[in-house]
Amino acid sequence: MLSSKEKQIIQTAIRDIHDFPEPGIVFKDITTLLNNADAYATLMQHLKQRYETYNLDFVAGIDARGFIFGSALAQMLHLGFVPIRKKGKLPHDTVSESYDLEYGSDEVEIHIDAFRGIKNAKILLIDDLIATGGTAEAAVKLIQKSHGECVEACFILGLDFLDGQQKIQELTRVYTLIGID
Ligand code: AMP
Repeated sequence: MLSSKEKQIIQTAIRDIHDFPEPGIVFKDITTLLNNADAYATLMQHLKQRYETYNLDFVAGIDARGFIFGSALAQMLHLGFVPIRKKGKLPHDTVSESYDLEYGSDEVEIHIDAFRGIKNAKILLIDDLIATGGTAEAAVKLIQKSHGECVEACFILGLDFLDGQQKIQELTRVYTLIGID
């Protein structure tokens, strides 16, 4: 469990940007956590401690901020890292999954050989924030389609006034460090 001191260090290092990228949205800016060595280390040490007993095979991160935390964590756990990217960015053959946005839809992709042929590879999925859960839901489905087992989906922040976390709980275990009311 995250101690109240750790929670406070991490939470106060994340900056709110009002009306970005559009009016009415409070954007959670994690760049002020990343450039704060103590806060970044507090977060990563917590994640390392939590996940070192999970017997994972890979950490998968969601485009783009999930790459930062995911690849750092993978390295700390001596695991491989797998990027789940927005459509059209991965150069080799891919498996894809589309999901609905408020207007229209989007798609995420993973390389067909991302899990190096390991059947039922144990995967930790990570992103910075879960809002509606659409992106994370597609990412979990992509892992499952690729014959991976998504052991847990981890988010630094969760918008508790949206039902994203409940949606993902139907597919896998969810760990959110800090809930936002
Ligand atoms: P969703 O699919 O609605 O759960 O949106 C999650 C994705 O959008 C994550 O990759 C987040 O990085 C990004 N995101 C959504 N809302 C915010 C927000 N208020 N602040 C920062 N990032 C956000």
